[in-house]
Amino acid sequence: MGEDLENEYGTLLVQDNGNTIFYKNGFYTNNDPYGVAHPITSVNAPSVVSVVHNHPRQGSIYADINLEYRYPSVDDWAAADATVALGADPNVLTMTVIDPWGDARVFEYSDRNFYLNQGVSSRENGDSLPPKVPEDADLGECVKL
Ligand SMILES: [Zn+2]
Repeated sequence: MGEDLENEYGTLLVQDNGNTIFYKNGFYTNNDPYGVAHPITSVNAPSVVSVVHNHPRQGSIYADINLEYRYPSVDDWAAADATVALGADPNVLTMTVIDPWGDARVFEYSDRNFYLNQGVSSRENGDSLPPKVPEDADLGECVKL
């Protein structure tokens, strides 16, 4: 994915016969800079291994909000909760966030409570950020961002 996207794009990584693939072969968007709906009710939730989306830049790239946008939002964790409620494995599920600089990081659902309770200043400091996924890395066996 390129950087500087104006809208949010999302996809689900799903297990399909032992392979990790994009749900419906790619990213989708609602052409909205503040959210993208993911099709949790039309996917086989137990097969979902990661909820993936980007956070577009908000205002100046130096704005503090963009530092916070390196992390999943409260609404993002709620979407993960809904995915688990439909049958995704909470010990497997991750949330992949592509930040306003185009860097992807994978957050474990099992760390949800930690991140939900993390303060704003701690997020702005970058505390407990997962490592960036290298740009050429496979997130799954055949999936690249
Ligand atoms: Zn988000």
